[in-house]
Amino acid sequence: MSKQNEKSREYVIAKQLRERAQFYECVRKNNYTDLKLGKNGTYDWSQETYNIKKGSKPCPNDCKYCYIKAMNIRMKKEVDELEDVDGIDDIEDGHNLKCESVPQKVNKNWRTANEMTKKYIMMPSSHDIFDNNVKDICVVTNKMVNAGHDGLIVTKARMSCIRFMIDYFRNVVKNEEFIKQHVEFRITIGSYDNTDIRFWEGNAPLFEERFECVKLLHNQGYNVSVSAEPLLTTDPMRLYNMMEPYISCIWFGEMNYVPILIEMKTEEDKRFLAKLDVIKDNLKTYVEQLMKYDKVFWKKGIRKYLKDHA
Ligand code: SF4
Repeated sequence: MSKQNEKSREYVIAKQLRERAQFYECVRKNNYTDLKLGKNGTYDWSQETYNIKKGSKPCPNDCKYCYIKAMNIRMKKEVDELEDVDGIDDIEDGHNLKCESVPQKVNKNWRTANEMTKKYIMMPSSHDIFDNNVKDICVVTNKMVNAGHDGLIVTKARMSCIRFMIDYFRNVVKNEEFIKQHVEFRITIGSYDNTDIRFWEGNAPLFEERFECVKLLHNQGYNVSVSAEPLLTTDPMRLYNMMEPYISCIWFGEMNYVPILIEMKTEEDKRFLAKLDVIKDNLKTYVEQLMKYDKVFWKKGIRKYLKDHA
């Protein structure tokens, strides 16, 4: 059998379908003995990630569950205070936050890839896309696809940034159709309820803005999907029904780092943590309700939870 390129988009997507079929087989039998689980995190989506900011710098969205904060704590680094992030003093509705790029990561030249070396690359994974770095994201995306790779752009989308990207690919590099073939947008929307979003995802855009971005990308002919990771609502079916007409797929995932990061101080903290418990307790029901839809996928954390709690 010829060797396969395990980092290519084709391989990754075929693997996602195989793993989902195996998971559903276990759910149907209520027997998870044979369920194989690999690495957690972004590996469900791609083997490669690319970021244009310095690794441990906090991301200005300041989500309560951010894995960078958890990583810094684990590695016993001092967690930078949000005030240290450039431009954070200047917040206006979360829309003039700044996330500085590392010039070498933007200016890097990409070597041309072939069938065996091309990759499916998720970007960014340790920060988000803001008005001050969106052009750099576009520059890198364009170089990446021109070198022969495929891209997965993951963001809690801001309308100004999505409009900038659409315009950049259409009118600046004039590469729109090629970009559409090789880039997928994955918009993170864990709830349709802004009280969930405001509690967990600090300065990130509210539901309506992200949903408008999904619709705009879809209407412009881009491949757009949704990441409901972490799942913040107790009604994922409603979220699915709202998104379904516009997306190629939706991934549900659970929150990974809460115990390290949240100190229960207020009644509000307790309420939202209790809601996460309700979500966990209902994961099996959610899977059973949604498994009939081809567009639905489950991150490894949820598959593992069902296996561990069978
Ligand atoms: S958007 Fe992502 S990287 Fe930024 S704070 Fe939220 S979880 Fe962290």
